[in-house]
Amino acid sequence: MTVPFLDLGAAYRELKTDIDAAYARVAASGWYILGPEVEAFEAEFAAYCGVRHCVGVGCGLDALHLILRAMDIGPGDEVIVPANAYLATWLAVSMSGATPVPVEPDPETHNLDPARLEAALTPRTRAILALHLYGLPAEMDAICSVASRHGLKVIEDAAQAHGARYQGRRAGSLGDAAGFSFYPTKNLGAMGDGGAVTTDNPELAARIRMLRNYGTRVKYRSEELGVNSRLDELQAALLRVRLKSLDSWNQRRQSVADVYLREFQETPLALPRTAAGMSPAWHLFVVRAAQREHLIETLERSGVGWSVHYPVPPHLQAAYARPEWPKGAFPIAEQLADEVLSLPIGPHLGEQEVRRVAAVVREGLRTCT
Ligand SMILES: *Cc1c(COP(=O)(O)O)cnc(C)c1O
Repeated sequence: MTVPFLDLGAAYRELKTDIDAAYARVAASGWYILGPEVEAFEAEFAAYCGVRHCVGVGCGLDALHLILRAMDIGPGDEVIVPANAYLATWLAVSMSGATPVPVEPDPETHNLDPARLEAALTPRTRAILALHLYGLPAEMDAICSVASRHGLKVIEDAAQAHGARYQGRRAGSLGDAAGFSFYPTKNLGAMGDGGAVTTDNPELAARIRMLRNYGTRVKYRSEELGVNSRLDELQAALLRVRLKSLDSWNQRRQSVADVYLREFQETPLALPRTAAGMSPAWHLFVVRAAQREHLIETLERSGVGWSVHYPVPPHLQAAYARPEWPKGAFPIAEQLADEVLSLPIGPHLGEQEVRRVAAVVREGLRTCT
């Protein structure tokens, strides 16, 4: 039995009738960019997240970048980012002209360690970009309280956390604004690129609405230098169909996670930790294993998919080569990069498949010397 890391085809097949109907409706409408489907999706996704405004954009990277631009954060400013973030989290800051300032994660949660935030602040710090890595909510209460003490904005990178809850509130409603991605592999995924900003702030939403469309509010009247970053009607129509299934699909991810958590309890693997009051979106199921290479060999040999999120932290990427960030600059992020291993998880992973993955991992742990 082989188990793929991810099966996006199954996600299409389950809702095929509704998705095909949505696409046919858009095709026949003759209107393809920023239209009624995008407007309807924005309203539905805002309601789902529990915020007043949602603005559809071209991708998750743009969502984060446009939030920073709309907050007037740019050259000369600093933005706190997790040292073990996905590259796009940092890139959004760099695109705005501001400087990403890495802070080490808590090695248990893989999310920003609030206890380390204050030491990283300078008079130039403007915002904290809090990432809910792997779909597990960051410690937002502690992060927001540091931010409010120092007059900083809090931006969520919610690209892996569609539907996650923190103290009963949804990811996307926990800071001043949040950026989502609808890249096909995300919990709420399109069949192309897509993204959105959620916020309760009407001025911020209006400014991003303008920036995403060449800086125009009124057609052919440009108020500032904007970009072209728009959600299209086909993707919005698809996302509307899938949004209805998001909670039940996340529930299925939770069931997969429950099996893994049970099966690996007594093993040397470090397991994802969820604090009280959090319900993760389980975008990824990531364990830490000192013997990762051996486990990967066993998975490969047994036809079980795996991945590593992420093998190289941003500060060690060629794109971010800086004298002040040599190897060893962020030892926790670097150690996590050496040890993390992602196992198959998703709404379409069968019970047999989950048991197979668990059995193969346990076998790998047993034969490791
Ligand atoms: C996917 C992702 C992004 C970027 O989204 P795109 O739509 O690919 O631009 C940003 N941050 C995180 C954490 C992501 O996982």
